[in-house]
Amino acid sequence: MSTKELHQLSLAEMVASLRAREVSAVELAGHFLARMVQHAGLGAFLSTDSEVTLAQARAADDRLARGDAAPLLGVPIAHKDIFVTRDFPTTAGSRMLRDYRSPFDATVVARLAQAGMVTLGKLNCDEFAMGSANENSAYGVVKNPWDLSRVPGGSSGGSSSAVAARLAPAATGTDTGGSIRQPAAFCGITGIKPTYGRASRYGMVAYASSLDQAGPMAASAEDCALLLSAMCGPDPDRDSTSLDVPAEDYSRSLGDSLVGLRIGVPREFFGEGLSQDVRAAIDAALAQYVKLGATLVDISLPRTELAIPVYYIIAPAEASSNLSRFDGVKFGHRAKDYGDLMDMYKKTRAEGFGDEVKRRIMIGAYVLSHGYYDAYYVQAQKIRRLIADDFRAAFMQCDVIAGPVAPTVAWKLGDKADDPVANYLADIFTLPASLAGLPGMSLPCGFGEGGMPVGLQLIGNYFGEARLLNAAHRFQQATDFHLRQPEGF
Ligand code: GLN
Repeated sequence: MSTKELHQLSLAEMVASLRAREVSAVELAGHFLARMVQHAGLGAFLSTDSEVTLAQARAADDRLARGDAAPLLGVPIAHKDIFVTRDFPTTAGSRMLRDYRSPFDATVVARLAQAGMVTLGKLNCDEFAMGSANENSAYGVVKNPWDLSRVPGGSSGGSSSAVAARLAPAATGTDTGGSIRQPAAFCGITGIKPTYGRASRYGMVAYASSLDQAGPMAASAEDCALLLSAMCGPDPDRDSTSLDVPAEDYSRSLGDSLVGLRIGVPREFFGEGLSQDVRAAIDAALAQYVKLGATLVDISLPRTELAIPVYYIIAPAEASSNLSRFDGVKFGHRAKDYGDLMDMYKKTRAEGFGDEVKRRIMIGAYVLSHGYYDAYYVQAQKIRRLIADDFRAAFMQCDVIAGPVAPTVAWKLGDKADDPVANYLADIFTLPASLAGLPGMSLPCGFGEGGMPVGLQLIGNYFGEARLLNAAHRFQQATDFHLRQPEGF
């Protein structure tokens, strides 16, 4: 057994220790449950139930005793509260779903359970995954363990905070416009959003269905590879947009040489909006890649700036449609005192939704309305296609694209809380890959202002997850940013 503490083990080390019976799944789960209680002040978890967790861990120990070969048997994970779960409530960070219990597990949750994982609980997030700082949750803010006065990023802020503080060795996240990559960057962990359609959306509370994707968040690319292999794969009966491409073993290609890898560096990602400290860390990371044998290619993604207006038309449009199901009849909250049916709808939705969600429903209904549909929604769809075309052209010149995840490090809690547009602008580097449906990841590559982590974004071509994870892994073998832990955790 290594001298590391249990929460410092990689997932592969946990699997090995569990199989060697050096540690039991119950002990491992107990270790993390204790850390979750000790650091509850971070606000990362929305629901926990130690009895459920320990029962799952006991079942894993039984399977281990029987020699079951499930790849992640006994390893703990926590789920973003966007994934529905039978054993824990699912709120999506909204008052609308307070105490809601799903009768089934999301496909991603079920697949990870099949792989043997033990659920530690549900993680805080922006309401219906709308946000970039986790300040839109109806259940309070989440703190960044690197600096408790700063945001953890969003919308998967509970996931990034919990993994960075090692309250969980792994977490699920969802990424519609950056919600895996940006919180991973802000908290100094690794996260990957696969190609749109790679992971099933079944049981993920819908935000913008043409963009929503699930993915893992963990300390390293090696950990993410194990998790992603277990999460992905076709789900034809339940998600019609899930692609008919079998799951891959992403761990297998880890370690491939980077000699000859062409890394495209989009000049639009290095404009005046990028802060100096982030730029310095990204430049150093690119230099490291050159040392590893890669070549840098200057590329252009000319419509980068348009990704913001395009995304903030399409995502609210889809959200306004998806959220129409929350009407007080079918799910969740219903107002107590109301007159007629219309009054019930109005009061229920006025009480159940937070400000940002209401703002997006209004924007969405507006851009889809008669008279504005062609001017906004249809135009946005056309530009979305052009953004995808820009990537297609870029990938003729390079194998992966690298740049910053976000223009700055994590900002202070409250700094942008009353300024929705400032939040939207900070999404500039993650939105393009989302609109194109491309896989993207974030890996820790240094520290910036205030000692805060900086994330390097790698964007791959469709189904390029293995190549991305390998490129991240080689970087992590040569650096130790992903192993640093915030003080006090
Ligand atoms: N920050 C973006 C938004 O608010 C992205 C959120 C996400 O990826 N879920 O929509």
